[in-house]
Amino acid sequence: MQAQTVYLNGEFTPIEEARIPVLDRGFIFGDGVYEVIPVYSGYPFRLVQHLERLQRSLDAIKLANPMTLARWSQLVRKMAKLHATWKDQAVYIQVTRGVAKRDHAFPSHTEPTVFLMSNALSVPDRKHVAEGVACITATDNRWLRCDIKSTSLLGNVLMRQRAAEAGCIETIMFRDGFLSEASSSNVFVVRGKQIAAPPNNHLVLPGTTNDVVMELARKAKMPLVLREVTEDEVRAADEIWLTSATKEVLAVSRLDGKPVGSGKPGPAYKRIYKLYQDYKRTVMRRA
Ligand code: PMP
Repeated sequence: MQAQTVYLNGEFTPIEEARIPVLDRGFIFGDGVYEVIPVYSGYPFRLVQHLERLQRSLDAIKLANPMTLARWSQLVRKMAKLHATWKDQAVYIQVTRGVAKRDHAFPSHTEPTVFLMSNALSVPDRKHVAEGVACITATDNRWLRCDIKSTSLLGNVLMRQRAAEAGCIETIMFRDGFLSEASSSNVFVVRGKQIAAPPNNHLVLPGTTNDVVMELARKAKMPLVLREVTEDEVRAADEIWLTSATKEVLAVSRLDGKPVGSGKPGPAYKRIYKLYQDYKRTVMRRA
């Protein structure tokens, strides 16, 4: 077992020894943001893009970035190096508004809490890739700033738990009759030859993996459009895909207990999965 070292406010410590005060606003209010950066064979994937997304999340909650891009990069690389026995890792960053007497309004002089950890990155098992996964659906009852990668994840947690209790991987959500995303992943649908996904706006998290999938699809001249996708279209889709750093690209073969398309991962999925794995081997790992 690889011992886990975390970074907390300037110190590197074993994870078991890291402590935060109970008045940390991350603990009290969920007043913080986070990032998850996949690291393949020691190379942080799209580090700058992840740090830019962190900056956008910090801006959205009006929290000054406690570090420069160079310092963040250095810390992420150091975290990865400390856990190099894991071939692939997910480096987690969290910044909260720090410790202050409990009051909803921002404290005037508080140092943000900065925390980093790394975990082994696991990818979907072969069975899930070969057979697809089951999902349920629900009305998206989260707030209207789902573009902020906030640690206030109760809405997502409850949705993911619903899926777990139904023996499913994810809950795919609809807001006002339109697809938004899943509890911890983005969603694509395929009908005929067309691949469609909702555009990035305040209702979805702009995923890094869906960026990759879109780039790969466009490069391969697979027809892809970003547009509003109706609930009916999702239910009538030939294929549905989930994307996230840990799910990579995963086919949904059952939705609310009914088969999606043929009930097996479809031809477009097989193509994009292969493109993704090739890209991972040749670019993400810089092989
Ligand atoms: N949407 C939500 C709600 C998520 O939590 C995530 C990340 N787990 C994603 C989309 C996908 O983001 P990424 O591709 O950067 O992992």
